[in-house]
Amino acid sequence: MENLSQVKELLKNSKRVCVLTGAGVSAESGIPTFRGGGDSAVWKGMPFEKISSAEMVEKDLDAVWEWFDHRRALYKDCLPNAAHRAFTLWQERFEEFTLITQNVDGLHERAGSREILELHGNINHAKCVDCSGIYRIDPQIVPHQPSECSECGSKLRPDVVLFGEMLPIETFQKAERRSKRCDVFFVVGTSALVYPAIGLADLAKYAGAKLVEVNPEETPMTSFCDFSLCGNAGDIIPLI
Ligand SMILES: [Zn+2]
Repeated sequence: MENLSQVKELLKNSKRVCVLTGAGVSAESGIPTFRGGGDSAVWKGMPFEKISSAEMVEKDLDAVWEWFDHRRALYKDCLPNAAHRAFTLWQERFEEFTLITQNVDGLHERAGSREILELHGNINHAKCVDCSGIYRIDPQIVPHQPSECSECGSKLRPDVVLFGEMLPIETFQKAERRSKRCDVFFVVGTSALVYPAIGLADLAKYAGAKLVEVNPEETPMTSFCDFSLCGNAGDIIPLI
């Protein structure tokens, strides 16, 4: 594959590399889509936009946890794939490596990536509703063991960006800074046409980075990229 060898060559001279991963990378591990857990967009009679909303955290936090534990149960036996594992090696390979993900399944963390900019949160993290302290939940323990914040005693909620909520601002700003100064920006398993991903790829491109896409099919992003590698992330990333 000509593009593959060109990308490998490109990376030889690259110090700063950003990777943005999306749902395609999770799907290769068997993670159902957000609506997943069946074909239904309704859970216990409630549309998932409602049960996953900021409003419900205020109204009925127990129900929100029940829904997220239901999703955690679906994710529990899904394991990191070859792409997740390969990215852990990139941590040592480049002077600055930034892993940005739209996925909430925590598989990058389970694979061993250390610093992950999780734009939409992590389903295996709980967050204090008052002081925003973060607590890890064992992915194997479903339902989670309810507890309270050890700093302030307040309730914990899932650390996932819900409908009606902003992206975590510090995480996103860091992703922007890293995108602006990288040599190569990878878009993996997402068409990146959804906000905020397109913004990060844009920033990188206009700051002079090369854009590389890894997707099973062409996407609206393809023509915008310098290199397009067609295939599953789990097949392609380890080759790079
Ligand atoms: Zn707290």
